[in-house]
Amino acid sequence: MSKATHLECSLCGRRLEAGRSAGLCDCGGPLLVRYDLDKIRHRWRRREVCRGPASMWRYAPLLPPADESVVSLGEGWTPLVRARRLGARLGAESLWVKDEGVNPTGSFKARGLACAISMCAELGIRKVSMPSAGNAAGALAAYAAAAGIEAHIFMPRDAPQANYLECKAYGASVTLVDGLISDCGRMAVERGAAEGWFDLGTLKEPYRIEGKKTMGFEVAEQLDWELPDAIFYPTGGGVGMIGMWKAFDEMEKLGWIGSRRPKMIAVQAEGCQPVVRAFEENEPRCRFWEDAHTVAAGLRVPKPLGDFLVLQAVRGSRGAAVAVSDDEMLESGVALASVEGIYAAPEGAACVAALQKLLASGFLSASDRIVLYNTGSGLKYPEAYSTRFPRTAVGEQDKLGGLITPR
Ligand SMILES: *Cc1c(COP(=O)(O)O)cnc(C)c1O
Repeated sequence: MSKATHLECSLCGRRLEAGRSAGLCDCGGPLLVRYDLDKIRHRWRRREVCRGPASMWRYAPLLPPADESVVSLGEGWTPLVRARRLGARLGAESLWVKDEGVNPTGSFKARGLACAISMCAELGIRKVSMPSAGNAAGALAAYAAAAGIEAHIFMPRDAPQANYLECKAYGASVTLVDGLISDCGRMAVERGAAEGWFDLGTLKEPYRIEGKKTMGFEVAEQLDWELPDAIFYPTGGGVGMIGMWKAFDEMEKLGWIGSRRPKMIAVQAEGCQPVVRAFEENEPRCRFWEDAHTVAAGLRVPKPLGDFLVLQAVRGSRGAAVAVSDDEMLESGVALASVEGIYAAPEGAACVAALQKLLASGFLSASDRIVLYNTGSGLKYPEAYSTRFPRTAVGEQDKLGGLITPR
């Protein structure tokens, strides 16, 4: 028996029955999971949350799977690190980094896929597929392995080595495609239809958002139920942003927080910034971004399926959308690592660069309480960071790498 009351289309509002395997609405809109919050409000109080486990499952009453279906590797309840030294350097007095890099498989994708795979287990789905160039693939492969579910992943041939290797190690079937992520998506759908695979692509089913929304619950709980003034989120498909926005709504309906919202800042890469363009042009949806390129693989999404939901959250919060260059990302990543000891994915590092811009423009002030989401670990990006720290071949003497040949 599902804890949800129904599924609701985010585009046309149509209602579907809960507890079923669902893809997109017939109109093409992503589905959202709805609960009887009035009932939950009387049975589960804010002060009781801390009795739950030190993982995202401490919010289990607001997550769809039944307790016995949960497939967990300990995802969520990540540290909210007070970044005093970085804050002092940038001129932000109350700065935190929510470090999602410590999740299983090294990124916040673990949250979404723990929830989605748990629902697959509950609904008896045995074979799943996904197109991904990066961390979503690794997380899918890990949770599918833990659940004994067959995972079929379609990856562009130039996907980072770390993501390819982890998928193989987790026993997923990986097809390397000589093409773009959109080609991978098409192949996954075509092969999947013939083979009966369930499509776990971004926003193609309603349960990944539910896992990711726990980032919103956690930031509230960790700040003693007082949301910050601004949240910086590196936005690719925007699932984390959509999820957090939904979490704030649910918490308000439960009486856990008031109606004040943080300014939601969508951070993108200069080489792929469809949300920034739509925001600046005052459009409700994004246009496809041609020739998308950035070292931040998680931000290489030319046309997010849930673009209108991301833009609603950004506008509804009087937030902003900001693009930063790959150079700025890597430079900020090195700054964050060397000043705070947090080695961030370029996506997470992009938030530091974006913060600098919004402090400089006066959009944010020194006294604002600010949370940056570091969505992944820098350890998964050796190719990107190698460009900052080139090494010469072993045996060669060179000042750059500081290599010394023993006599
Ligand atoms: C996938 C990914 C993102 C983008 O996530 P969305 O919620 O889909 O916007 C950001 N950072 C990292 C490290 C990712 O893997």
